Amino acid sequence: MPHTPEASRPSVRSTVHGYPRIGPNRELKRACESYWRGETAAEELDGIAAGLRLGVYAQLREAGVDDIPSNTFSYYDHVLDTAVLFDLVPSRFASPAAAGDRDEELRRYFALARGEQGAPPLEMTKWFDTNYHYLVPELSPSTRPRLVGDKPLAEFREAAEAGFPTRPVLVGPLTFLLLAKAAEDAPEGWRPVELLDQLLDAYAQLLAGLSAAGAAEVQLDEPILATDEGRAAVGLLERVCRRLGSLTERPSLLVSTYFGSIGAPALRVLKDSPVEAVGLDLVTDGEGVDDLVKVSGLGGTRLVAGVVEGRNVWRTDVPAAVATLGTLLALTDELTVSTSCSLLHVPIDLDAETSLAPELREALAFAKQKAYETALLGRVLSDGAEAEYAAGGAGGGPGFTDARVRARLDALGPDAYERPQDRGAPTDTPLTTTTIGSFPQTAELRRARAARRRGALAEDAYKQILREEIDRVVALQEEIGLDVLVHGEPERNDMVQYFAEQLEGYATTENGWVQSYGSRCVRPPILFGDVSRPEPMTVEWITYAQSRTDKPVKGMLTGPVTMLAWSFVRTDQPLGDTARQVGLALRDEVADLERAGIRHIQVDEAALRELLPLREERRAAYLDWAVNSFRLATSGVSPSTTIHTHMCYSEFGLIVGGIEALDADVTSVEAARSRMELVEDLGRRGYKRGIGPGVYDIHSPRVPSVEEIEGSLRLAVAHIDAGSLWVNPDCGLKTRGYAEAEQALRNMVEAARRVRADL
Ligand code: GLN
Ligand code: ZN
Repeated sequence: MPHTPEASRPSVRSTVHGYPRIGPNRELKRACESYWRGETAAEELDGIAAGLRLGVYAQLREAGVDDIPSNTFSYYDHVLDTAVLFDLVPSRFASPAAAGDRDEELRRYFALARGEQGAPPLEMTKWFDTNYHYLVPELSPSTRPRLVGDKPLAEFREAAEAGFPTRPVLVGPLTFLLLAKAAEDAPEGWRPVELLDQLLDAYAQLLAGLSAAGAAEVQLDEPILATDEGRAAVGLLERVCRRLGSLTERPSLLVSTYFGSIGAPALRVLKDSPVEAVGLDLVTDGEGVDDLVKVSGLGGTRLVAGVVEGRNVWRTDVPAAVATLGTLLALTDELTVSTSCSLLHVPIDLDAETSLAPELREALAFAKQKAYETALLGRVLSDGAEAEYAAGGAGGGPGFTDARVRARLDALGPDAYERPQDRGAPTDTPLTTTTIGSFPQTAELRRARAARRRGALAEDAYKQILREEIDRVVALQEEIGLDVLVHGEPERNDMVQYFAEQLEGYATTENGWVQSYGSRCVRPPILFGDVSRPEPMTVEWITYAQSRTDKPVKGMLTGPVTMLAWSFVRTDQPLGDTARQVGLALRDEVADLERAGIRHIQVDEAALRELLPLREERRAAYLDWAVNSFRLATSGVSPSTTIHTHMCYSEFGLIVGGIEALDADVTSVEAARSRMELVEDLGRRGYKRGIGPGVYDIHSPRVPSVEEIEGSLRLAVAHIDAGSLWVNPDCGLKTRGYAEAEQALRNMVEAARRVRADL
């Protein structure tokens, strides 16, 4: 039943931290991309955006949410919005030529995100441990923060005029500065956080403006407090609260934290500060309530209790949440029920799914459903409303178990996770050349896949197109002179979804889109039950490729950690248990590939670094299960089969121990953008397995010269034995065109040949 704030004033209110901005049918993506192509006018783009914002407010009101947030919309990214709002833009981006020229404003805004002639974009990186990416502000001592924009104000007014009093949401000053980086011209050792006081002046001005416009409350998002770095910054937090809290003209302040607990010291600072409300994530690590007990409750500071999981897709266990909220009522005078974080990270509406199994659907809640849950919890608490939502699962997934999978895992001994240590080098050739797996995905391939989905292309005809593509890719690699070939992955829409579609225990959605960055959205599959592999998933394609050449073809699989990292995963059992099940399913695939005569098998762990816990103290336990599941997948093979793995980043330091523990024969990693720094590290550590530091950056269409690659290789052989060194690009080629991919590979093979000749 819809609940309107006017009807009654509950003593326990409800809110959400934020809501998806892409629109129910990815309207924002389409509108932005069309604007970039010059097909949509600025006015039209702004109109579509306004419609989406009002749609969100209406949706939240209909769900019965009492306090509605605003300024959660963004054309690209909320961190970028904050940088632009406070004029924190590097000078390579020209200011709009004429003030108030909307096209000029948008041009600069999108240039910051996407680059323009002569001005490379801001760096993009992961937003904490989610799959959302933000743009990293570049600051320097000469940067002068000042309020130059009015986005939060304009969106507040727009909502108010439409009848929605809202709570503007801002990225908090501490989070903003700690996520920013020092510009290249900043002096060694200078840190963006040195701008804190100046930035606080600009925030103060903004808060005054919002207050004057009628905003009763403003939300400052400080998720950085859930990380080690933020937890260590309590002194700065105190400064922020004191400065903003002491303003005479300001709205009431909600400091909102998420992605984990913040620890008692930070909580005490918030409690003792003038800040009126504190938002806590009471779901993620289970320590939030302990923190509250440690500081003897919040007293007069209002608790915004994040009890509805905001970044996974399971429905809330309402009775359990009611019990938690009951405990919380004793720890604060005033309580608001909320989500654990913004709903940005979940799909919008479960009602848009038509083909999920009923038992699974029962267990799910997307953003809209979570808004209803939050509102319901508020009502249950405030007027004792009977939970009309009580039916259904206990949260965390439908709990589908498969006794066979469990029995198989239980029966495995420690040797299932070990390969013989004395298995020798995988090839006799120094500087063996190979690629990471995918070849360019042509328009023809995409069309064929779409036609097959629509039913317009028969399975046989589709497979024939794939075989022809594999023929071309294999012939091309032979002609270029690569040593270990790949089939090119033409059958895969996505490296996780392709496997998820074939594994038991996984479901895929039709419309479950989530923003990854800018206009790019992904549709993460849902891992809901015990995982197993009913049938071989890749053997047909890999063996077909192998039948076309005498050179070895490398089989290509996605590893257990990556399968979890890019999916929504059940929470009714530890992640490590789920990873082991995926590992076992992959082990079956690895065995089938080996039996079919495949001598090189690559298990990609592109996301090993991504799932690394935000807090140091949890990392060893994580690496332990991550490594175990990989080893389970790969340890069933004979010593002469070569196991490869691939990772997409170079920040090796953090997990180098983990990488060694994977015990792959060959590990390929990104290295080009960090100028092969990691080879020195590995050399020092005496790393003994094969390593393929990516010799060129595939993220750019630029073709590296032979000399450039040769230089990188010479650097590498100076530190690492040439017999252990593999030569490859730094990631798959699927986003490149054939013209550049082919030329770059030719140059790479030639560079390897030259360096080999001098050994
Ligand atoms: N094998 C995959 C590919 O080549 C790996 C992709 C990745 O690392 N993200 O596309
Ligand atoms: Zn990669």
